[in-house]
Amino acid sequence: MKTKILIGNWKMNKTIQETIGFVCAVKETIKDIEPEQIMIGIAPSFLALPVLEKITDKIFSVAQNVHYEEKGAYTGEISVEMLKEIEIDYALIGHSERRKYFNESNESCNLKLKALEKNQMIAVYCVGETIEEYRDGKTKAVIKTQLIEGLKDLSKEFIENIIIAYEPVWAIGTGESANEDIAQDIASYIKEVIKEEFKMKYFDNLKVLYGGSVKPENINDYVNKDDIDGALVGGASLSPDSFVAMIEKLKE
Ligand code: PEP
Repeated sequence: MKTKILIGNWKMNKTIQETIGFVCAVKETIKDIEPEQIMIGIAPSFLALPVLEKITDKIFSVAQNVHYEEKGAYTGEISVEMLKEIEIDYALIGHSERRKYFNESNESCNLKLKALEKNQMIAVYCVGETIEEYRDGKTKAVIKTQLIEGLKDLSKEFIENIIIAYEPVWAIGTGESANEDIAQDIASYIKEVIKEEFKMKYFDNLKVLYGGSVKPENINDYVNKDDIDGALVGGASLSPDSFVAMIEKLKE
């Protein structure tokens, strides 16, 4: 049976106290879950990261972003070393909100991915097309470019362990989710492109998640597909009830 992955992306939501409250509310459900069965991650605010990391070993903590430089005059930014100090091993790179509001490009994502590689961290690299690209039939071309440019010059070992999140931009936070067969087709395409372009021989650890208006009612439509290993969830990860309901679904 495949290991399923559920990652909640909290964006700019929840204080430290609210994070603690959330973990208390879900702890009964997650206490017996083994990571081989379901890997559960949350990307909270930077302030809540060390707290989340300390209060539970059933949830892995994910940074929502990181800067690619080691240190220096980058006001407001967080370095890999700062994340490593609080024992964070995962970071989201290239979320569409970062690409849209903070001008992140495939090139800057590539620099960030290289910074993670250098520090043995695991990336959740987000790719996905806009509504215009989707309507113009450019989904695969856009994703191929995001993969080739984003993963350029990274080691095979790093790419082998990467998590790719396929998130159609038009499905994020809109309530409109992609058809599960299309999501499966893109997930399989992502694996194929990575295998071909980066001449990968060992491939079993590479995971592909779907993200975009996932909720308890539809999570299994995606995760039951052959090439989709889990979900990256925004809105529905904020309430303990729906988070627990998604975990229960994944246990089925
Ligand atoms: C996300 O933020 O990555 C996301 C998929 O959001 P939502 O589930 O709210 O669409």
